[in-house]
Parts: sequence; structure tokens; C-alpha cells
Amino acid sequence: MQDIVSAQKLFFKTQKTKDVNYRLSLLKALKSEILLNEQAILDALKKDFKKSEFEAYLSEIGIVISELNLAIKNLKKWAKPKRITASLLTFPSKDYIYKEPYGTVLIIAPWNYPFLLAMEPLIMAIAAGNTVVLKPSELTVNTSKVITAILNNVFQDTLAVSVEGGVETSTELLAQKWDFIFFTGSTTVGKIVAKAAANHLTPTVLELGGKSPCIIDDSVDLKLVARRLVWGKLLNGGQTCIAPDYVIVKSNIKQNLIEALKSEITKRYGTNPKTSEDFPRIINQKNTLRLSGLLKDCSIVFGGEVDENDCYITPTLVDEPPLDSPIMLEEIFGPILPILAYETQEDIEKIIWNLDKPLSLYVFSNNRSFIKETINKFSFGGGVINDLLIHFGNHRLPFGGVGASGIGQYHGKHGFDAFSNTKPIVKRGNWFDPSFRYAPYNGKLSLLKTVFRYFG
Ligand code: NAD
Repeated sequence: MQDIVSAQKLFFKTQKTKDVNYRLSLLKALKSEILLNEQAILDALKKDFKKSEFEAYLSEIGIVISELNLAIKNLKKWAKPKRITASLLTFPSKDYIYKEPYGTVLIIAPWNYPFLLAMEPLIMAIAAGNTVVLKPSELTVNTSKVITAILNNVFQDTLAVSVEGGVETSTELLAQKWDFIFFTGSTTVGKIVAKAAANHLTPTVLELGGKSPCIIDDSVDLKLVARRLVWGKLLNGGQTCIAPDYVIVKSNIKQNLIEALKSEITKRYGTNPKTSEDFPRIINQKNTLRLSGLLKDCSIVFGGEVDENDCYITPTLVDEPPLDSPIMLEEIFGPILPILAYETQEDIEKIIWNLDKPLSLYVFSNNRSFIKETINKFSFGGGVINDLLIHFGNHRLPFGGVGASGIGQYHGKHGFDAFSNTKPIVKRGNWFDPSFRYAPYNGKLSLLKTVFRYFG
């Protein structure tokens, strides 16, 4: 590992990656290689957790291709020093913001969108001019192998390389001195990454998880809400960092919502979702058992079937779990949806403020003041009004968490910025050099005060 990092640091010092045309050629080569391997990626995702080709394209390959297109189209503009208005204190000057690559970066990816969440940071790291060591997830072996092969075919190891392995590999990688670390995964491991980074004061982006609430008042069209909610919860088998973790619904429509959800689930995945081509599996037996453990002592009003051997859990609705039960304390990360009723704003506060700041928050309502109050009151990474997940789909919106759900943001240009050090540069003019700032200061203080008070 040390050798890889040293070799990358040496290569970075050659200044080759500062050449924007070189970066563009790498991004174009990466795009061609991904297109060439499209079927291999789809097959790998199917083997890893029975992800359908449609979902794999929508939520992994498609987004990766569009990030590549965006970076290829805009890289010259993004990388160019940006002229900024000078200030009274720098005058006469030309002021700029430079974007410089951090250097040699480590990217650690999770298993739930194993292709997307490895490639998207990689693209922006390369676009920004860094060298990269990528560690894909050990739980999606097939996808990780394809990722390694793609990187091998496009990059020399001194520029970007994929290092496969589990916790030991990750730990060894984290012991190295990096210029930047980008981590996507659980809050628990995020803390381990933050500690390792602190040893070298390495800047990080941490994209973590949490319990994202979905609040529904009684002004909504329940059929539409059920359709969107079932889609947002069951995409990827519920194994989505921004999936609605639980629902808080106005008590007078709770029963109707449950009925609408039941019929929507059956409409989309049939009476036996196990046989549906579109319903993925839980990533492994360990997580299947964890999820079935969460169901213990719960009031299950729909689903509840578990097949450990097939890593299968049927879409499940849980009614009113106690706030101190495990299902309401840990991130669910599976096709199980607890439903809690509320009467007043205080009831909602009691639930949300009982937990860490979530990655996302969703509110379904046609009542403007209810929406405004909800969005303003709670702190969360990002959210959607009257739908789910789609804030991830706009590259103009920065994506990330707050507090326990993450530090830093990326996507599109925000990703390029995340992998760049922002370097302010002032070029001072020599044609004018007022003596005001130089000693002796006698008699200058009152003018200084006036300048700051009225012109500063
Ligand atoms: P994880 O934290 O278990 O693993 C993520 C990565 O960290 C893997 O590559 C793994 O090998 C490595 N790792 C695991 N244990 C480690 C340790 N002790 N030391 C060093 N490295 C270690 O997460 P996961 O199970 O792969 O993914 C699920 C979690 O990720 C969920 O909490 C989910 O919310 C979160 N997530 C967040 C985002 C986001 O964008 N914010 C996206 C996807 C997933």
C-alpha cells in the first residue's frame, strides 16, 4: 500500500495531472470503457443482489454516464481560475480563485450502489486532477471485480487504481497519509475514517447514513403518495441511504395510507414479490438476519416473510413501533417501513428530535405553511416535497448529510469542488502604493475607523 501511495505521490509531483487536456482524455477513455462494459456491470449487479437491469441503469450506470458527460463538457470552465472583484483592502489588485487538486486521494465505497458510489467520486477526483486509490466494497464481489478491471484498462496505477478487500485492507489504507479522503458508508465506520484522517489532519468528505423521515399530512392524494412511497422505499430493496426510513402520518388517514400502500405493493411486485424480477435481495445473510431481528416484537400489518437462505425479505409494513425499539433507533436499510401516527407538531418533533440529524427528510402535503414549518424546523442533509429521492438526480444540487449523516457535499460541479482545494490569489498592482498602511500610524486611526465603518 505504501508503495502505491508513494508512486502516486511521485506521479502527482510531475504536474501531469494539472493538464486539463490530459484529464479530459482520461475521462473520455473512462467513458468508452464503461460503455464497453455496460452488460458486464449489469450482470455483476444481478449476481451480487439480483438488481434488475432497469434499476441498475437508472440508479447506477445512467448517473455515472451523465456525470462523465457533464465533467467532459464543463471541465475547462470549472478548472479555470475565476476572476473575483477586488476589495478596498486589496486595491489595486486582480483577485482570483484557483482550484487545485488535493493530490493523492483515497475513496472508500459502500455496497448498496456499488458501481455508482465508487465511480461518481472517482470521476470528480480525476476531473479535479488528483490521483486516486479506490477501495470498492467487499460485499459486492462481482461488481468490484468489474470496477477493478475497468480501472486497470483505463489508468496506470500511478494515476488511479482499485484495491479490493475488506476491513483489513481499508484499515491499512486508512493508516497511510492521504491528501484527501472521500468515504461513503455507515456513520459507525465514518467515525473510524474521521479518526484516521485526524492523525494527519487530512481533509475528508463523509457521506453517511441515518434515519430519514417521511412526513405525510391529511391534505394529500393518498394514491399518489402510496405510489411514490412504495417506489422510493423499495428501490434497491430498500437499501438506499436516502430511502424513507419511516413514515409519520396524520392519525386520521393512517389506516387509509396502510391500505393504499398494501395495494400499491401488490400492484408493483405481485402477491409474491419473491418471484418478481424487479425486487432485489438483501445484500447478504448477515443483513437479512439483522433485518429480521428488527421485526421482533413489532406489529406487522403487511408482509413479514423472511427467507434467510435466499436473502429475501418481503416488503413489510410495521404499525406504531415504540420510539425506543431497535427498529426506531437504527437505520433500517431494507424493505421494512414503520408507520407512526401524529396529531400535533409536538408529536413530530418528539420522533425526529429523538434521533440524529437525518440524511434526508420528505414531506407530503398540499398545505404550504405545514411544508414551510417542517422544512425550516428540522435539520437534515437534503429533502423533497411531495416525492422521494429525486434530489439526488439534479447535479446542480449539492448532495450530502449534516452532523451524524455526513460532512461535505458533492455531485456535478459540487463534486469537482469537493476534490479541489480552493486557493485564493491576489495579484497586487505596482502602479499605486498609498502610504496609509505603513508606520508611523500617527493620526491615521480615525480615518481607518471611517473606512471600516462606512466602506469596509
Ligand atoms: P460500511 O460503513 O459498512 O462500509 C463502507 C466501506 O467501509 C466498505 O468499503 C467497507 O469495506 C469499509 N469498512 C467497513 N468497516 C470498516 C472499518 N472498521 N474500518 C475501515 N473501513 C471499513 O457501509 P455499507 O454497509 O457498505 O453501506 C451502508 C451504509 O452506507 C448505510 O449506513 C448507508 O446509509 C450509507 N450510505 C450512505 C450514502 C451517502 O451518499 N450518504 C450512500 C450509500 C450508503
